[in-house]
Amino acid sequence: MTEILQAVVEGAGGEELAGLPMPDAYRAAFVRRDEVGMFEGLASDAKDPRKSLHVGEVALPKLAPDEAYVAVMASAINFNTVWTSIFEPLPTFGFLDRLGKEGEWGARHALDYHVVGSDASGVVLRTGSLVRNWKPGDRVTVHCNYVDDQDPTAHDDSMLALNQRIWGFESNFGGLADVAVVKANQLMPKPTHLSWEEAAVNALCNSTAYRMLVSRNGAPVTQGDRVLVWGASGGLGSFAVQYVLNAGGIPIGVVSSAAKAELLNDLGVEAVIDRSAAGYRFWKDEHTQDESEWRRLGKDIRGLVGEDPDIVFEHPGRQTMGASVFVAKRAGTIVTCAATSGYMIEYDNRHLWMRLKTIKGSHFANYREAWDANRQVCEGKIVPPLSAVFDLTEVGDAAFEVHHNRHEGKIGVRCLAPAEGLGIDDPELRAEVGEERITLFRRHDG
Ligand code: NAP
Repeated sequence: MTEILQAVVEGAGGEELAGLPMPDAYRAAFVRRDEVGMFEGLASDAKDPRKSLHVGEVALPKLAPDEAYVAVMASAINFNTVWTSIFEPLPTFGFLDRLGKEGEWGARHALDYHVVGSDASGVVLRTGSLVRNWKPGDRVTVHCNYVDDQDPTAHDDSMLALNQRIWGFESNFGGLADVAVVKANQLMPKPTHLSWEEAAVNALCNSTAYRMLVSRNGAPVTQGDRVLVWGASGGLGSFAVQYVLNAGGIPIGVVSSAAKAELLNDLGVEAVIDRSAAGYRFWKDEHTQDESEWRRLGKDIRGLVGEDPDIVFEHPGRQTMGASVFVAKRAGTIVTCAATSGYMIEYDNRHLWMRLKTIKGSHFANYREAWDANRQVCEGKIVPPLSAVFDLTEVGDAAFEVHHNRHEGKIGVRCLAPAEGLGIDDPELRAEVGEERITLFRRHDG
């Protein structure tokens, strides 16, 4: 990889890159099938990604005709890598085995190691014979919607495809590595004004938030809408609040510290609730929720923005869903894509039906949505919430931070990039968007 890296850093053209030999093996972060039982009997919090995530050499798989090899300059930690590394709710090897049954190319994925990671920025090194729109030398980011374009169910909204998968979570050869193997229809242009790390942290969370709050497939925000955003300075939330602001809506960001509240204010979010300071106890005990606490949250929201939220951006799940359904406005929508604190959800259905509310499920984004979300980043309308950068060798520590909610925004991971801050091709656009704005989360993290 040294030769490839040198060529990329020196700005080699596509022809030169295509002429360099691909290595037989590459460095990657992976979990191992023979270790899926290593945390048995432990509580989630005690399951330690630093023990289960390994970094080492793995064999480079053959390239399918519709795929590309990408030299990964940087990647990011997503919560799905935390799930994979603690083997919850299921070990991901079951996903790989299922994909392994899908013909010659699918069979490559069913291995005893799972190379993780669902984000990447980098440079295309090779393309398969069916790839038309990309070539070696292209600077790209990668989104994680992995679909088979020969599947008829993928041709309305590809997120509805029966065999839709998340790359690097439900497939192998993910982005936390020096080389990624991706389908050509996962590629998108790299934002020219961003560094490799800044460009690597957006695709997954940005596209997810876009589908939830911008696309017709979610709960699109309109001018003046009040939108309650849980985890508003986290991975999803930091994109969500930007989309609400861009749409002329009013975000109410919920966070768990004064420092995070200040960060949101700096991002332009005026209405912020510090849930730790407020001390909400939505659950009296493991089985019983407290409606008076939901009511207290509702009152706090009205105090800040005058009305109940038109939309609630949900992902914490069990801990907050009862409150989310309660506080949403009459005919409002609760749009949800996750359940970090537990997926067996309980809410009072009377508040849903009597007030004609809707719960809308959402999951990642189709190619078009990911592309449009990426365009917002390319044009500087959405800024990357990169708060910290770890080296690939420290991937376990990086996942540990996210697992324990010790981060803000997104954590970037340097793979091939030899230093931070490289890869910026358009300094003029960067200056136009504003260095201060682009680096807001990074400076805040110190
Ligand atoms: P993240 O960076 O960890 O941010 C989530 C934030 O939610 C946390 O920082 C925390 O913020 C808040 N939170 C966590 N537990 C909470 C609780 N019990 N009550 C209230 N707030 C809580 O993670 P993320 O990247 O935003 O992802 C969030 C979830 O969405 C994960 O489960 C992830 O797997 C899922 N996800 C799903 C999709 C999809 O396509 N379906 C895509 C991306 C992510 P404060 O402590 O500041 O309140």
